[in-house]
Amino acid sequence: MKKNIIIANWKCNPETQEEAKRLFEEIKNGIENSNTEVIICPPVIFLTAVSFKESGIKIGGQDCFWENKGAFTGQISPSMLKDAGCEYVIIGHSERRKIGETDEEINKKLKVALNAGLKPILCVGEGSEEREKNQAHDTVKKQLENALSNIESVIKNSDSFIIAYEPVWAIGSGNPCSFEEAEDMSIFIQKTARELLGVSPVRKIIVIYGGSVDESNAKDYITKSKMEGLLVGGASINSEKFIKIINSI
Ligand code: PEP
Repeated sequence: MKKNIIIANWKCNPETQEEAKRLFEEIKNGIENSNTEVIICPPVIFLTAVSFKESGIKIGGQDCFWENKGAFTGQISPSMLKDAGCEYVIIGHSERRKIGETDEEINKKLKVALNAGLKPILCVGEGSEEREKNQAHDTVKKQLENALSNIESVIKNSDSFIIAYEPVWAIGSGNPCSFEEAEDMSIFIQKTARELLGVSPVRKIIVIYGGSVDESNAKDYITKSKMEGLLVGGASINSEKFIKIINSI
């Protein structure tokens, strides 16, 4: 049976290692759903504090640099994430784009992450102005074209590639995307990414949704919008809510 992917993006939370450990353990102990692949992306400083091994939960980074080592103060590289046990890494989150991350940088990060053996979770999504001007599809298309530019040779060994549709206006706003809009964008992203990647051997493009997901709407994004998973921010640092989301799928 196909497993839905549920990703927790803890962002810059919690404040201490003790809280991170407790949150992880609470989530681990609450999961009753074996139809989901749960991936937790804590702040990098907590990666080794959470006992993910043999927990059934996978871990990921929230970002990475585009070189694996060198004189780059403050950066965390894909090979470091891999060494810390990460299988996944979020790339191109809108909160990073907002502080200046460019499509060109996202493309470089994707290539190095793939080469290091990580599975990227590429985030795309339009802002509110673009949605109002009916430019959502053009924006997402451009983000995909730039992110996936010349990526065929590095992506060729991957059996799947995850793209998260995260409309910027829906993130952390309590104003989630409608199920119809999400379904429309899921189909559009599948089609566009497939065209861009051509007949590359990537067997599967997995489109997931993120933006004000909670326990009341999670299941409908899977059943009504045909999303293959969810990227959860705010609700993922509340173990009770996050467990309900996982167990509702
Ligand atoms: C996110 O951070 O990717 C996100 C979707 O946040 P939230 O669930 O809080 O909207």
